[in-house]
Amino acid sequence: MPDNNKIILHAPLAGPLVPLEQVPDPVFSSATLGDGVAIDPLNDVLYAPCAGEVVQLARTGHALTLRAANGAEILLHIGVDTVQLQGRGFSPLVALGDQVSQGQPLVRFDMDLVAQHCVSLVTVMLISNGPGFGLRRLEAGNAQLGAALLEVEATGREANGRPVSHESARGHARVAHHGGLHARPAALLRQTAQGFQSHAVLRFAEREADLDSLVAVMGLGVGEGAEVELICTGPDSQTALLALIAAVQTASVGERHAAHAPTSTAMPKPAAGPGMLTGVCAAPGLAQGPLARLDGVSLPPDNGDNDPAAQHQALNTALAEVRHAIDRDWRHLPRGQEDAAAILEAHLALLDDPALLGDARQHIANGVAASHAWSRAIDTQCQILRSLGNPLLAERANDLYDLQQRVLRALLGETRQLRLPPSAIVVAHELTPSDLLLLARHEVAGLCMAAGGATSHVAILARARGLPCLVAVGEALLELPAGTPLVLDADQGRLETEADAQRLAEVQRHVQQRRETRQRQQAAAQQSARTRDGQVIEVAANVASAEEAAEALAQGADGIGLLRSEFLFIDRPTAPDETEQRSAYQAVLDAMGERPVIIRTIDVGGDKQLDYLPLPAEANPVLGLRGIRLGQVRPELLDQQLRALLQVSPQQRCRIMLPMVTEVDELIAIRQRLDRLAGELGIGQRAELGVMIEVPAAALLAERLAEHADFFSIGTNDLSQYTLAMDRDHAGLAARVDALHPALLRLIELTCQGAAKHGRWVGVCGALASDPLATPVLIGLGVAELSVSAPQIGEIKAQVRQLDAAACRRFSQGLLGLSSAAAVRQACRDFTAQSHAQPAAAAALQQ
Ligand code: PEP
Ligand code: MG
Repeated sequence: MPDNNKIILHAPLAGPLVPLEQVPDPVFSSATLGDGVAIDPLNDVLYAPCAGEVVQLARTGHALTLRAANGAEILLHIGVDTVQLQGRGFSPLVALGDQVSQGQPLVRFDMDLVAQHCVSLVTVMLISNGPGFGLRRLEAGNAQLGAALLEVEATGREANGRPVSHESARGHARVAHHGGLHARPAALLRQTAQGFQSHAVLRFAEREADLDSLVAVMGLGVGEGAEVELICTGPDSQTALLALIAAVQTASVGERHAAHAPTSTAMPKPAAGPGMLTGVCAAPGLAQGPLARLDGVSLPPDNGDNDPAAQHQALNTALAEVRHAIDRDWRHLPRGQEDAAAILEAHLALLDDPALLGDARQHIANGVAASHAWSRAIDTQCQILRSLGNPLLAERANDLYDLQQRVLRALLGETRQLRLPPSAIVVAHELTPSDLLLLARHEVAGLCMAAGGATSHVAILARARGLPCLVAVGEALLELPAGTPLVLDADQGRLETEADAQRLAEVQRHVQQRRETRQRQQAAAQQSARTRDGQVIEVAANVASAEEAAEALAQGADGIGLLRSEFLFIDRPTAPDETEQRSAYQAVLDAMGERPVIIRTIDVGGDKQLDYLPLPAEANPVLGLRGIRLGQVRPELLDQQLRALLQVSPQQRCRIMLPMVTEVDELIAIRQRLDRLAGELGIGQRAELGVMIEVPAAALLAERLAEHADFFSIGTNDLSQYTLAMDRDHAGLAARVDALHPALLRLIELTCQGAAKHGRWVGVCGALASDPLATPVLIGLGVAELSVSAPQIGEIKAQVRQLDAAACRRFSQGLLGLSSAAAVRQACRDFTAQSHAQPAAAAALQQ
């Protein structure tokens, strides 16, 4: 008679057996999670060690638990610390709730990727609901795939089933994410929740969503600034709650940048006329080319009488294929495309969404074909998102539509063969982020959609690629035949559908001129920028990493004017230690050859929080413990950073800059601390110490600060916010938070005068430095360095070369008396036009 209490676990992988206590992760080596074995794998598919039900499957695909016939729960965990890969490199071949047989493939994984990015490939198999089970080892040394490894006997001393902890913690948080809890913030919350054992739920307006489900969270329609309740249940509920509150209250840095879309994107739709359709500008620019259509998948008819098992399997295979494809796209993204990476990560999370999958599987159980089931599940969720009355969430339906199309194509075996004419304007009902990745391999001139919104992910990607894009044009767009010659003037929100040959040629000339100008500027970008009367202006770059620094150098940066060091600290579970920081800063210096690098000390606090550094919630975070003030509450964090900075070499090329300084004593205190730390480390020569001028108090005290600072760099983003009392991220005030306001110009002048009294130099690292209209004003007021975004270097250097510094000084004095930012802008336009005309006039006179 078979013994129902005993099961045999067969080797799920081939490879040498490793004693559990030698696994390089204390959670496993201490057997906290249970007893078992570990294997150093030689193959890349994990197989079922016994028959059982999949009772847990990590969304990230790196771990799962099977419940065997005798109640034992067998945890299979691939590699050490693999959760941080967030699903990349793992393709589960089974789903939660599946019954599997012994030897069935469970997860395929990319051995190279795991080996490169994680501590170890060693894979653990243990009984996670002991101690009611006795274990007998049947094998030592090398495991052959499928060989009997362990005998597991239920001893009956304890009820089977995992102990349930009822510890719970709850708290409230206000949503800081731009536009509310849409796909990317929801994915961030889900990722945070996955770091804990506790189960987490978010409650809003008397409805609840499991944080495991992106669509459920998005479906609550939580807007920016709304207050939500978080409830965590489990053994680590308190820590989970703290981390989740921080995640809700922290607007990610990427979003802050995405939120700074050009103001033209907020332009309403202009009126249409004959031969013209109008839409909303999602990415500026002008283009001309033939119309090319990109259509969605059409579903074959379904008789509703399908075999559920076969359809479940078909869906699983299609999902795994799409997951694999997204993963591949993610890995091949060029550097600096954080927006695209975040979008793909959200898509990966949506593919595993329990609400979506549950819905699709329910349809399949009723006999519906997998393609129709998946399509309906997505349609239902899209309708929910569109009915919430939140435009940003409605636009996220596009991400679901994207996944609908990708999975359908995988299910129906359709491969996409794009045949586009050169320089096509691609037209569709609605394009998806993956369409854009596909189009990136073709030479496309512009994009135009019948539906869509200016803040959608596609719009973000189009802007990042410099591809003009018009959205919300209406269904009439789809009636235009392929090949129609079009002029897309995204700046003006217009699509010309009856352009004649003359108009097409005119636009083509304009586009060509822009391209040539850019090429000329790029060709001269490696040379230093000197005004016509010989003043050298250093054009440096703002970066966040050594990779970006290398890119900036290639684009012609004279140095790094701002390294936002907080990027090293955010989006990770623990703080980087001194050694890691030191090598990160050194890498930036190394990337820049002989050129100087300004490293700003960590600027978090306020709305930029760190998971591992919970700070008290604040009523007015931008007026709270941020920037250098963090040093008051966590001095050891600042000391650690200063120590790391003091150890990079050469110190002459490294400049330390302090954010949010408001009084002289703060600077003096940090200088003393630097001296003390340098003494302790035995370092003689030390980096220069500068101050960011980004609050009015610092500008007003510039002369006093200059006694103790080596240099200044003006942060016009925050200086505008604090001078104008307007939130720099406020969508409704975006057009008015303009650093060319005369009040700011007066503060900039004061800063330059104060610095000059003590022989210090002044730079600008806020966004105003990247605006070519502002270049004459800043040079005129006495700024010597402009730190800009890397793609802007060539253009700003070209602008400097057109100007005469003495004329700029006279011009900028006249601006101080103007009455608004708009008046200053207009004066700048006129001045720039004049300056550009002058060299041409001088050349004409010489002929
Ligand atoms: C600024 O405030 O202008 C600045 C450069 O700093 P950040 O944008 O990082 O706040
Ligand atoms: Mg700032």
